Amino acid sequence: MAPQAVGRDRTTPAGYDVVIVGAGFSGLYMLHKVRQMGLSARVYEAGSGVGGTWFWNRYPGARVDIESQEYSYSFSPELEDEWQWTERYASQPELLRYLNHVADRFNLRGNIQLETRVTSAIFDERSDRWSIGTDRGEQITAKFCVMATGCLSVTKDPDFKGVESFKGPSYHTGRWPHEGVDFTGMQVGVIGTGSSAIQSIPMIAEQASHVTVFQRTPNFSVPAHNAPVDPGVVRDWREHRAQYRKEARQAGFGIRMLDQSERSVFDATPEEIKRTYEERWARGGFSLAGAFADIVVNKEANAIASAFVADKIRSIVKNPEIAEKLVPKTYPIVTKRLCIDTGYYATFNRDNVSLIDVAQNPIIEITPQGIRTRDAEYKVDAIVYAIGFDAMTGAVGKIDIQGRGGVKLKESWAEGPRTYLGLMVSGFPNLFLVTGPGSPSVLCNMALAIEQHVEWISGCIAYVNERQAGAIEATTAAQDAWVASVNEIADATLFPLANSWYIGANVPGKPRVFMPYIGGFPTYEQICNEVATKGYEGFALRSPARGS
Ligand SMILES: Cc1cc2nc3c(=O)[nH]c(=O)nc-3n(C[C@H](O)[C@H](O)[C@H](O)COP(=O)(O)OP(=O)(O)OC[C@H]3O[C@@H](n4cnc5c(N)ncnc54)[C@H](O)[C@@H]3O)c2cc1C
Repeated sequence: MAPQAVGRDRTTPAGYDVVIVGAGFSGLYMLHKVRQMGLSARVYEAGSGVGGTWFWNRYPGARVDIESQEYSYSFSPELEDEWQWTERYASQPELLRYLNHVADRFNLRGNIQLETRVTSAIFDERSDRWSIGTDRGEQITAKFCVMATGCLSVTKDPDFKGVESFKGPSYHTGRWPHEGVDFTGMQVGVIGTGSSAIQSIPMIAEQASHVTVFQRTPNFSVPAHNAPVDPGVVRDWREHRAQYRKEARQAGFGIRMLDQSERSVFDATPEEIKRTYEERWARGGFSLAGAFADIVVNKEANAIASAFVADKIRSIVKNPEIAEKLVPKTYPIVTKRLCIDTGYYATFNRDNVSLIDVAQNPIIEITPQGIRTRDAEYKVDAIVYAIGFDAMTGAVGKIDIQGRGGVKLKESWAEGPRTYLGLMVSGFPNLFLVTGPGSPSVLCNMALAIEQHVEWISGCIAYVNERQAGAIEATTAAQDAWVASVNEIADATLFPLANSWYIGANVPGKPRVFMPYIGGFPTYEQICNEVATKGYEGFALRSPARGS
């Protein structure tokens, strides 16, 4: 399917006002917004369907870890009225149905080209336009280019010796086969114990004859207490939706149900502390992280929360040796994304599940029959790689992006990503990032973070067009100040103490930089709004180039 020029921008045969890369939560809403503004737009999506994360991650047990009503678009009251979630935490199939519904409801599909990977984006200073190349050999131009490519869309490839030699099937949780996988009667090796593993291991263990879990770093997980959505909750949400959405925007992580307390743990008695944590454990989900104000900034406060969850793990897992292996000891709780599970720790009480600590006994190679650690070979029929993503910078890093003077984004980011507000990069005019590094992104309810970014970007595009300017670009000074501020805030917390994917620690050779903005969603949104109100302070507007 050749790209068509649509809308009012007909400067070149395949020219658009806006090209959007990616058709997940971000790309779909971005398209809707720019079309509402009367701009021509085209979305390029590598997958064969829309939905992004929820298109690709079809592993058993995949579900959102923020309550469904909160993890959804808020821009359309009609959409909110007509869509009814069925579970407290929506499963991947339901989320995918939702995003497909959004694509249909807002008639978006006609502007989306599937199975097309954007491979390059090169800025032409003579025309102030981006020239975008795809793996189908197309070249399209656009005044604005929006990277809605996702923070967790590039899976990490297993880099063990001998991966190709394995004779059985192997799967990556982030690229799960659409037809599903039947593990009945199989011996399965699962490598990794991050969020995807924590969600899928209990499900795989119910099917497989045996599951061997290879764990390098244990993760803290709290129960989801997932259930069908309570009709009372639905009624309450409908009645108070506007208020609840507002409260989410005012909450530190953009999650209302976090129920963030302002109280220091040191102002509470031991009995109150215990009661509070027990109550939040029973409530389930992220609420545990909001129990006291100082959990992410004070080591002793954090140690109390870590010890509470460690004791829970010890009380659930019957074998004390296995329990001890499952208790995280090398980083403070919440400084790696807290996992939300359904029966994860109890799964280790099953006779058909075993745990190998690969920090002690590292994986040496994948063999034709299975997985060899330093001490033993584990024969398996199938391998599940739950090894995560090249987070936050992976997807844009795969595109040959060249800004002014042919400068490559990859080179600009060689020492780690640098952005202004996580939205734009100095030297790359008219190029926007949705939930880019330097914005709250993965430390937030991402549905909310995405809406805020898409709305800010739309406003910025309107500002440029209203002034008939050629381009807008972050100034180096504003970017430098923002990067310094992001680092300063991160350094005041316990987050840098964890070797997490937030700092790129899971990808060998990746520069160690704390990527998300941790100053809280409300502060961040306020800064973005102020910047816009002050005529996009920190951004430079340029007159149209001669050839534009
Ligand atoms: C398993 C999993 C669970 C998650 N759970 C939660 C949760 O509970 N709460 C939460 O807030 N967030 C969660 N997230 C984060 C999630 O990614 C975001 O919530 C949200 O879905 C991101 O939407 P997006 O559109 O920005 O990116 P994505 O959904 O990742 O979509 C990006 C799309 O861009 C496409 N793309 C990338 N590069 C190119 C290219 N060069 N050319 C063409 N197309 C390209 C990809 O194929 C992808 O479809 C989870 C992520 C994962 C992986």
